[in-house]
Amino acid sequence: MGRLAETEGLTDIQEEILKTVRQFVDEKVIPVAQELEHADEYPTEIVEGLKELGIFGLMIPEEYGGLGESLLTYALCVEEIARGWMSVSGVINTHFIVAYMLMQHGTEEQKQKYLPRMATGEVRGAFSMSEPGLGSDVSAVSTKATKLEDGSYSITGQKMWLTNGGSSTLVAVLTKTDEGAESVYKNMTTFLVEKTPGFGETAQGVTVPGKIDKMGYKGIDTTEMIFEGHQISADQILGGTPGKGFFQMMDGVEVGRVNVAARACGLAIRGFELGIAYSQQRQTFGKKIAEHQAILFRLAEMGTKVEVSHNMMVRAARLKDTGKRMDVEAGMAKMVASEYANEVVEDSFRIHGGYGYSKEYEIERLMREVKFMLIGEGTSDIQKMIIGRSLLKDYKS
Ligand SMILES: Cc1cc2nc3c(=O)[nH]c(=O)nc-3n(C[C@H](O)[C@H](O)[C@H](O)COP(=O)(O)OP(=O)(O)OC[C@H]3O[C@@H](n4cnc5c(N)ncnc54)[C@H](O)[C@@H]3O)c2cc1C
Repeated sequence: MGRLAETEGLTDIQEEILKTVRQFVDEKVIPVAQELEHADEYPTEIVEGLKELGIFGLMIPEEYGGLGESLLTYALCVEEIARGWMSVSGVINTHFIVAYMLMQHGTEEQKQKYLPRMATGEVRGAFSMSEPGLGSDVSAVSTKATKLEDGSYSITGQKMWLTNGGSSTLVAVLTKTDEGAESVYKNMTTFLVEKTPGFGETAQGVTVPGKIDKMGYKGIDTTEMIFEGHQISADQILGGTPGKGFFQMMDGVEVGRVNVAARACGLAIRGFELGIAYSQQRQTFGKKIAEHQAILFRLAEMGTKVEVSHNMMVRAARLKDTGKRMDVEAGMAKMVASEYANEVVEDSFRIHGGYGYSKEYEIERLMREVKFMLIGEGTSDIQKMIIGRSLLKDYKS
């Protein structure tokens, strides 16, 4: 990668993990990404390889069978993986968010029950807030969990856009419950729903209709999930107490934002690599196109955007690792990295001329994949609301 996107102050262990992941991506991901993506085929072998590397348990504490690494290590691994193929980083993203929510908010019993099997990748996580009628406005959740006489709950409603909705076996589902609170945010509860992998009726009253056909982010399954009187024990409430679901989900989404920023960084790095390589091969008007100032300036801007995004992502991850508040930093990193990745990939596409429009060239895939960075874990508009409101509080006059 040359001098861009370097991270200072890493430990020997972090360097070693990153070197291993980079090698895995170069040898096992990049060579097959195009073919699998165009066929919309699930990357089974790659996922098995990631299990062997311990990626599914990277941040899970050692006492629960994971590697106990930091958010920074995790984010840097995600950046490497997304550089190879963004969809693969999506396989571990929701898994990581569910594991994180369990680590932060789960009861000891829930941690013992799930984390060791999540660390090996035997249990695979998905998380579900969105519904057909809502994404940004989480307060509008309508999937309802009704308390039954025996203390268990019955869930009915429709969920939308579940990344890993088919392949997962444990889904953190945000529902509306009646806690008698005035605030809508305190009438929401997260349930840990167990299901079998696959499509159709995957648990009693839980149907996963099939894969949503998407513009990019292929290979990985994104699904709807329909609940029709799914009966679930109160023991499956995350943390054991109802009414805390919204706050638990927002905590998960906050680290998810660093994660999406890291994925955007990976896409930007790859876009830059492809653009700078092509610009030194292609000749027009008697010289390499890199020697035309318009292309040179474009490369300079792309490199600068890669560097800015990487540093903001690293800073947000480091802040979280020190336990400091980082809502603004995570929002900024997510917004800047995704917007810049979109620009860098488009610049690389322009550098490729007509060939960039051909499916033979990797940049065509990146063009489709990068658009999802602008949407996932909150659009840029939503990041601006979070950043702006928080800054107004900090700088209140
Ligand atoms: C491929 C894919 C995978 C996904 N995976 C998951 C998943 O695993 N789990 C999950 O729960 N969700 C998932 N999502 C859903 C995703 O989080 C939402 O799509 C996203 O939050 C945006 O919500 P929306 O689509 O409902 O857009 P809307 O909220 O309807 O927004 C539409 C437009 O209005 C703007 N807007 C909305 N509100 C405001 C406002 N107050 N001020 C200014 N502008 C505003 C938005 O920025 C956007 O431009 C996924 C989505 C996709 C496409």
